Amino acid sequence: MRIRDRGIINYLSVLVAAAFLPAVVLAVAVFVVVLEREIDVAWSRIEARTTFITGSVDSQMDALAGTLDALSSNQSLIDGDFESFHHQAQAVTGDRVDAVSLIRPDGVTILNSRVPIGTTPPAFSVPESAVAKALSDGTSIVSDLFLGATSRRPIFAMIKPVRVAGQPMALAVGLFAQRFAPLVARTLPPWEAAILDGGAQDVARFPTESSLDQPSRRQLAELIAKQGRGHAKLRTTDGGELFVAYERSAKSGWGAVSSLPRTAVVAPIQRLILGYAIGAAILVVPGIVLAALLGLRLVRSLRELARFTGMMAEENPERLAPVARLACREITVVADGLDQAAADIAARDLQLRGQRDLAESRADEIHRQSKELAASNAELQQFAYVASHDLREPLRMISSYIAILERRYGDSFDADAKDFIGFVVDGAQRMDRMVQDLLDYSRIGRVGANHAPVPLRDTVDSALAALRLVVEESGAAISVAPDLPIVNGARGELVRLFQNLIGNALKYRHADRAPVIGITWRPLDHGWQFSVSDNGIGIAPEYFERVFAIFQRLHTREKYEGTGIGLAICKKIVEHHGGRIWVESVPDQGSTFHFTLQEGAAGG
Ligand code: ADP
Repeated sequence: MRIRDRGIINYLSVLVAAAFLPAVVLAVAVFVVVLEREIDVAWSRIEARTTFITGSVDSQMDALAGTLDALSSNQSLIDGDFESFHHQAQAVTGDRVDAVSLIRPDGVTILNSRVPIGTTPPAFSVPESAVAKALSDGTSIVSDLFLGATSRRPIFAMIKPVRVAGQPMALAVGLFAQRFAPLVARTLPPWEAAILDGGAQDVARFPTESSLDQPSRRQLAELIAKQGRGHAKLRTTDGGELFVAYERSAKSGWGAVSSLPRTAVVAPIQRLILGYAIGAAILVVPGIVLAALLGLRLVRSLRELARFTGMMAEENPERLAPVARLACREITVVADGLDQAAADIAARDLQLRGQRDLAESRADEIHRQSKELAASNAELQQFAYVASHDLREPLRMISSYIAILERRYGDSFDADAKDFIGFVVDGAQRMDRMVQDLLDYSRIGRVGANHAPVPLRDTVDSALAALRLVVEESGAAISVAPDLPIVNGARGELVRLFQNLIGNALKYRHADRAPVIGITWRPLDHGWQFSVSDNGIGIAPEYFERVFAIFQRLHTREKYEGTGIGLAICKKIVEHHGGRIWVESVPDQGSTFHFTLQEGAAGG
């Protein structure tokens, strides 16, 4: 028996993994949701900041527009009193605005609050195109960023068409771009923020350099121009990603942009995930290690059990050391069971061996006895044969000398002497018959013992042929059942068997009736049963056994001729063919002799 080492460890690992899998899946799902939510939150924060900056820009613009409106409704301006207006324009310059200028439709600046009155101001302090647009639109416009003519610093202007002494002119208030810097300067890295003019130029920016690459900047300008408001993920110069929200003010046409790098949004969540992953690993790994250790222990236990059961089958169980108890209670229970089984088997083995030894010794004894028996049987047969054979010689001598005696001296014998001689002759003849019978008896199973298939009908016919005279003389009616089987046996012996039985049926017939003899048969499991019945004088039950003994007779010689060996010979023949013989009889009514023969009897 082989245990697959990895099997149980693998199963346990899978079990641990399966136990943790739902948690892992849930954690991943939670992380994904949290990440999405964090990104959404980041977007709304970026957008809120953008909106805030746009609002701040708008309120700056509103303040500027208020100043411009106040200046434009100044009576001295309307009247064309430049000196007075210059004076008033100077009053607001540096505080709310950085410059106030009055420009003719041809773009020539005729008044600048930063240039003393009487001095010619720079010809084009405000972009001519913006002036032209304000005049043609007839409403206030905000210019793009330009370089201040006197300050040489980035500046922009809000321009409003006015009428000065009935002439159309443009009144412009300018503000340094730097004034917008505080709106974005409150930003802390990694936040970025910028305010862009209508031409997408930086008005203010934090940090001073944008981290967007050139194509992304162009893309952003296009987005602001087209969408007005929205957000986008754009590329940075260092290959990163920037989450950018943009918004363009409807009033000024300026835009605000703020952004956060993707890493700043995702990093905290990634750190969180990493933390959870490490935590999960700390939880799972000991579980797996524990499972592996338990698995090893389990495998060792199972191996031990396998070794034990293997040895139980191969070795003597009583020599087995008890099973080592290694792993869990169930295995201990199995181990206990195995120990018990081993002990039981050992006990049974011992018992069986004892029985086997006993059986062997008995078999030896029986073998020895049967050998002794066979030897003594053979010896006995030899003795009977030799005795009967050798006894006939002196008998013949007695008979011949008595005959000579009678022949030579018969005339001189008186009547008694003749009677005595007659007794001697008779005795010698009887003894010769008995010795002859004994010889026949001892020959059964010894001479011509070769068995062959014998058709019993033939043997019955032969027996009847030998008895033909007696049959005719007694007027017997003999019936033979049809289809007598063919048996394996010694033909001569079987003829003798039927001849003796039928002969007895004729001999012991009833004085008042002619003999009726029946020969029948029936099949048995492994052979046949034959019966020879008659309507003769019958036998008393107490003699049922005795009639089969050698030289046992129930009648006197004078009444019925015989030596009493016929049925003994029958018994010996039947037994020699593996069968048995018995008699059923009712005195004065008749007898039935039954005998069995075995199918394929070995005999010998
Ligand atoms: P024998 O016929 O020489 O006496 P058996 O051995 O044949 O010897 O028979 C033994 C005895 O059994 C006989 O003396 C007889 O009394 C009895 N016997 C045998 N066969 C029959 C029979 N068919 N009917 C009645 N008695 C029988």
